[in-house]
Amino acid sequence: MADVPVAASLLPDFLPDAAGWVPAARRVPSPNFDARPDGMPLDVVVIHNISLPPGQFGTGDIEAFFQNRLDVSRHPFFETIREVRVSAHFLITREGELVQFVACTQRAWHAGQSEYCGRQRCNDFSIGIEIEGADDQPFTPAQYTTAAALVTALRAAYPIQGVAGHSDIAPGRKTDPGPHFDWPRFVALAGLPAGLLPYRREG
Ligand SMILES: [Zn+2]
Repeated sequence: MADVPVAASLLPDFLPDAAGWVPAARRVPSPNFDARPDGMPLDVVVIHNISLPPGQFGTGDIEAFFQNRLDVSRHPFFETIREVRVSAHFLITREGELVQFVACTQRAWHAGQSEYCGRQRCNDFSIGIEIEGADDQPFTPAQYTTAAALVTALRAAYPIQGVAGHSDIAPGRKTDPGPHFDWPRFVALAGLPAGLLPYRREG
């Protein structure tokens, strides 16, 4: 299967509106956000993976977690994150469905302590995309298609100058999206020019 770039003009439903919401996304609002600093350029995309419970898909627990309504009785791991308040702008399910929790114009809480090319606190200037998955499992073709469509549209709407993995901006602390995220495939599908090639930390 050839990885042909998707065209932004073919994907109007993926273009965020003026408030930063993407029409193609199922909207699941999270309270875990706040305002970006005044005048901050919105110019980096951060790719993550997540699964809840770890390694399980399609449970609905990611949405519950980002909405602070996780049922901690469902799994022992949930006790360890019951006080955690996080979010991402987007989630892409295993089926390729796009879910949006926070408007792009707002600051979602996805990156934590992080640095991109010398700039600290990546949440200030980045859009976070969670891809439902785990470090030890391949992602699905539908997820690459949706991720590429979304990033293509985000580039049309905002001055995106880089795409990075969470592990690139928080090395030693984070491992996602992990070794199974096929960066060359994603780059080809999203038609990313060399200047936007995923940020790879030296060494
Ligand atoms: Zn992450």
